Amino acid sequence: MAENKEAEMLKEKLFHKKENGWNTVKNKEDIFRYAKGYIEFMNAAKTEREIVKQSKKMAEDRGFKDIKEFETLKPGDKVYHINRDKSMYLAIIGKEEIEKGVNIVGAHADSPRLDLKPNPLYEDGEFAYLKTHYYGGIKKYQWTTIPLSIHGVIVKTNGEKIEVNIGEEESDPIFTITDLLPHLAQDQMEKKLKNGIDGEDLNLLIGSIPYAENVPEAVKLNVLNLLNQKYGITEIDLLSSELELVPAMKARSMGLDESMVVAYGQDDKICVYTELTALLDIKETPNRTAVCIISDKEEIGSMGNTGMESHVFDTFMSEILNKLGVNKPNLLEKVFCNSKMLSADVDAGFDPIYASVSERNNASYLGRGIGLNKYTGARGKSGASDANAEFVAEIRKIFEENDIRYQISELGKVDVGGGGTIAYILANKGMDVIDCGVPVLSMHAPYEVTSKFDLYEAYRGYSAFWKN
Ligand code: MN
Ligand code: MN
Repeated sequence: MAENKEAEMLKEKLFHKKENGWNTVKNKEDIFRYAKGYIEFMNAAKTEREIVKQSKKMAEDRGFKDIKEFETLKPGDKVYHINRDKSMYLAIIGKEEIEKGVNIVGAHADSPRLDLKPNPLYEDGEFAYLKTHYYGGIKKYQWTTIPLSIHGVIVKTNGEKIEVNIGEEESDPIFTITDLLPHLAQDQMEKKLKNGIDGEDLNLLIGSIPYAENVPEAVKLNVLNLLNQKYGITEIDLLSSELELVPAMKARSMGLDESMVVAYGQDDKICVYTELTALLDIKETPNRTAVCIISDKEEIGSMGNTGMESHVFDTFMSEILNKLGVNKPNLLEKVFCNSKMLSADVDAGFDPIYASVSERNNASYLGRGIGLNKYTGARGKSGASDANAEFVAEIRKIFEENDIRYQISELGKVDVGGGGTIAYILANKGMDVIDCGVPVLSMHAPYEVTSKFDLYEAYRGYSAFWKN
């Protein structure tokens, strides 16, 4: 007995304990209250444009101003820049010389969805449809027979921008994409899951009443007439639109114990919300300048002028250096080389139903806290941004000192697949970066699941990183 006790004590001392975070929670109230705010945020904003709009409002309420409004900057100033309504950078100027680097947390606001094609509208079999082109990695069969809403903008040649949002209000109609009845699906059911639904068959059903008798394409005409009455547009205006179909399902508290959140687009809006609220809640001017990134186009490779690969972020940082009155040749490069970043993106949570794709010792689990990935990539770490051990130790120290529950994992088994984030783009600029986000079940599906415990730990984790 005595020997066992000694072994137990030694085990306590030496083993890395991986425990369920809920067992460590004394008061669930703070977590549940925070999750309520998150659910409201998710229901108010479902696309990158809506997220940026909502984030701007929240930031301005807390004293942030467009960097354009500042002639000069000093410690404590709170600034933002919005890039084409789709990505956003925010900063709180720190007390320390900026040359020593800044602390960045960066997430992305775009999520997998169905975009409308440039020429979307057609009639077939006396139904009016909109043709789509899927955005990001989706399992196409998941997007049929679910409620969908239409969000986005139509821009006229005179510059007028019409905002569209149909299907979120109870009084709004919703839309759906049909699928074949099982009775007649013999051939379809023999197909591989990935080919079960063809990309060209993801057509949104939007109308069935003809405008008049004996007129060809009368249902399409009726739909266009409705759009013209509502928005003053004609068919050609759809050429200059960005309309996105997203699930019309509401973000909700999930489980009998209400421990989880189910919502569309938690990849990566859960990291946007946690980083943004962490930044807005900073009360004392931090030592190092705190920078927050809300990026776009991550799901399709971060390209283009709103993606993380663009130089707009560098320009924002240069602008800070200019307005601090410290800029000089190579200073921006130096700042980047001395900077530290948490690349805030979701992680694949361990799903017992699909346990075979995960390696249990190196999976991240819902309810065990914020999930770090030292590296991502595929096969032999191909394409990975691999965080240096020194930096991992630094982040561990911050989290451990602040009692933040964290786990370090890999995205699935070695040869099963892989993924990436914006981490490598910032790491290429010379900063220390580690992926650090929330584990998710059913990632990229129309309805994704997260744990409220991890949500709150992410918020606390990003706060601690900035305050450090
Ligand atoms: Mn992501
Ligand atoms: Mn993703």
